[in-house]
Amino acid sequence: TFKALVIDKNEAGQSVSFRDFNETDLMDGDVTVRVSHSTLNYKDGLALTGKAPVVRRFPMIPGVDLVGTVEASSNPDFKTGDAVILNGWGLGETHLGTYAEKVRVKGDWLIPLPAGLSPQQAMAIGTAGYTAMLCLMALEKHGLTPERGPAIVTGAVGGVGSVAVALLARAGWHVIAATGRPEEADYLKGLGASEILDRSELTGAVRPLAKERWAAGVDTVGSIPLANVISMTKYDGAIAACGLAAGMDLPSTVAPFILRNVALLGVDSVMAPKALRIEAWNRLAHELDHGKLASMTSTISLDEVMEAGRRIVEGQVKGRVVVAIA
Ligand code: NAP
Repeated sequence: TFKALVIDKNEAGQSVSFRDFNETDLMDGDVTVRVSHSTLNYKDGLALTGKAPVVRRFPMIPGVDLVGTVEASSNPDFKTGDAVILNGWGLGETHLGTYAEKVRVKGDWLIPLPAGLSPQQAMAIGTAGYTAMLCLMALEKHGLTPERGPAIVTGAVGGVGSVAVALLARAGWHVIAATGRPEEADYLKGLGASEILDRSELTGAVRPLAKERWAAGVDTVGSIPLANVISMTKYDGAIAACGLAAGMDLPSTVAPFILRNVALLGVDSVMAPKALRIEAWNRLAHELDHGKLASMTSTISLDEVMEAGRRIVEGQVKGRVVVAIA
């Protein structure tokens, strides 16, 4: 057996408890991994609290990220002792997840731990940081460069937001960090933000077109703030949308798209193809300053994950949270 955090559901609702899980109850897969670290993402908070129907199978072990060591493999790409990363692919949703000492998964879902990153640093990045890199790559693929104007990041103090601020600043962008926590201005400037924008400037009534303020953006919140970000985007600009911390709706108009040639770029990390993941992780290993990464990271134990899950869905977590498992 191995120790795992398990979500159960019955008529009374959902409950979360620690359990000794039988290895024979693990799901199908050709690689068994001993997990050393996981992380806490917004989605983990939704699963732990049951605030949104993230979990689609019960009992479920939550957790969407892992770094660990291959314990057994019948997959030709992996052998015992290899250090690997996994992000997404339905773990913690449809496949038993990573808040456990062991997982069994498809080898196709694993990528090698990139050279230059420790296991702890890889999980300080986690799904949130890897998604921030996918957003930067989407903006670059669209042809955007820092000469075109500033880049806005919404939910900047959060996990995706913090990494996005650091990556965009490193790539030469003038970063406008939008936050509901202006008291964290020094933190955001330390990550590379040039300007702080109070969240309230993005929560007013959405006009079809507003004054043009930025050429690019990474949005982690959706809803009215994203609609306002789009309406304030410069001609030919683009916004990478990856999150819904403010809501899943998008009360926008087509005006920015048809009158300003603005583009909305959707970004998904869960089912992203392997080649894109490897590119994103190799870039993260080289382009994310290790001091900045450390400044945005805290580490908790598996015992503390439930409480941290409650806090993240209330928008109270700063930066990234590593969950130490081993
Ligand atoms: P997080 O650490 O909680 O960050 C979210 C941030 O959004 C908060 O720190 C807060 O930033 C802001 N926020 C929270 N509630 C808000 C509200 N009601 N209105 C406006 N802003 C609000 O979470 P995360 O792990 O970085 O994830 C961020 C978002 O990205 C989540 O929606 C998550 O589901 C999504 N995500 C998507 C993918 C994907 O594959 N597409 C991958 C990872 C994450 P401030 O305090 O600075 O305002």
